[in-house]
Amino acid sequence: MRVFEKLAEYRYEQLVFCHDKATGLRAIVAIHDTTLGPALGGCRMYPYASEDDAIVDVLRLARGMTYKAAASGLNLGGGKSVIIGDPHTDKSEALFRSFGRYIETLGGRYIVAEDVGTSTEDANYIRVETSHVVGVDVTRGGSGDPSPLTALGVLQGMRACVEEVFGTGSLEGRVVAVQGVGHVGYHLCRLLHGEGANLIVTDVHEAALGRVVKEFGAKAVEPEEILTIPCDILAPCALGAVLDDATIPGLRCRIVAGSANNVLAESGHGESLSARGILYAPDYVINAGGLINVADELEGYNERRANKRVMRIEDRIRRIIAISKRDGVPTNVAADTLALERIAAISSMERLHTGHPYGQLSRRRETI
Ligand code: NAD
Repeated sequence: MRVFEKLAEYRYEQLVFCHDKATGLRAIVAIHDTTLGPALGGCRMYPYASEDDAIVDVLRLARGMTYKAAASGLNLGGGKSVIIGDPHTDKSEALFRSFGRYIETLGGRYIVAEDVGTSTEDANYIRVETSHVVGVDVTRGGSGDPSPLTALGVLQGMRACVEEVFGTGSLEGRVVAVQGVGHVGYHLCRLLHGEGANLIVTDVHEAALGRVVKEFGAKAVEPEEILTIPCDILAPCALGAVLDDATIPGLRCRIVAGSANNVLAESGHGESLSARGILYAPDYVINAGGLINVADELEGYNERRANKRVMRIEDRIRRIIAISKRDGVPTNVAADTLALERIAAISSMERLHTGHPYGQLSRRRETI
C-alpha cells in the first residue's frame, strides 16, 4: 500500500504504528484532524486478514470520527485505533497496558475509547498507563453504558424529523418500526412508549423481542418484514448497510431515523431516499449520544450535563434539514457540510496569541 498517498487523499495528520514483541501488541492509531481538539475515537480489536486491511479500516473510521465530533458540536477531532488480534483469545493485561503506554506518548493528541472487540475492562488497563482514555469503569469516573443516551439522541432526532414531515414535533400516535431491540433499541422503545408512540419491532433474538412486547405493548414482526411495514418512522437499530438498491424501493415509511452505523450501503442512497420523499436523519449525527456521553468524562463526568448535550441532537438534525434545503442536497451530504463548515469556521479564526502557555488552551475549551 502507498501509505503517504492514502494519508494525502483525505489530509490525515498522522498514522502511528505501535509494536511490542513481548506482549504481542500490533496496533495502529490514525489521527485524521485535530482542528477542533484532540482526536477521540474507539479502539477496535479484530483479527484483520492483512495489515493493509487494518490500515484501510483505521483510516476510514478515524475520518468518520472527525465528521461525527464536528457535527455534534464537540471540541474534538477525529481519530481511531485498531489492535490486530482476536478479542476472544489474544487479550491480556500487558497487551492493553503496552497499548496505553503508546497512547501516552501521543501526549493527548489522541484519546482512546471502547469499540467493537474492546471493553471497559480493557479501558481500565489502558488507564493504568495513560489518562488519555474514556469509557473506563463507572467507579473510576466513567460514564457507564452509552446506550440509554444514544437512544435519547435518536428520540430527539426523531422529533426534528417528525416536525419537518408532519408539522408537529409530537410522537404521540406515530407508528415507529424498530429493527433490533438490543441495547439501544430497547431504550428507544422505552422512550417512544413514554411518548405515546405505537411500536412495531423485530429482532433475531427472541428474548429481546419478548421483553419489548411485554413491557411496551409493541407488535412483533418477522425480521424480513420490518423494512416494508407501513409506518411513519423506520428506526434501524441493528445492522449497517440495511438501505440499498434492493430495499429502498420497498420502504413504506416517511422517515428513517435509527441508531445503526452506516445505515446507507453507499452515500448515493441518501439521494435515493430523498427521491422517494423519505427524510433520512444522518446516522452519525442522530446516534452521537454515546460519543457525547463518553466525551463528557474529559470534564469529569456529569450525567445531567451529558443529557443536556445529547438533547441538542434535535437542533443538529434541524440544522441539517435546513442545509439540505439550502443546498438542494440529501441530508447525508448536508451532515458532512455541517461538519466541514464548522471545522472551516474554527480554522479560519484570527490566530491571536492569547497569552496562554503552550498546551494550556485546549484544557479551557469546554463544549458549549
Ligand atoms: P446490540 O447488539 O445490543 O443490539 C442489536 C440488536 O439487533 C440485537 O438484539 C440483535 O439480536 C439484533 N439483530 C441482529 N441482526 C438482526 C436482524 N437481521 N434483524 C433484526 N434484528 C437483528 O447493539 P446496540 O448497542 O444496541 O447497537 C445497535 C446499533 O447502533 C449498532 O449498529 C451500533 O453500531 C449502533 N450504535 C450503538 C451505540 C450504543 O451506544 N450502543 C452508539 C452508536 C451507534
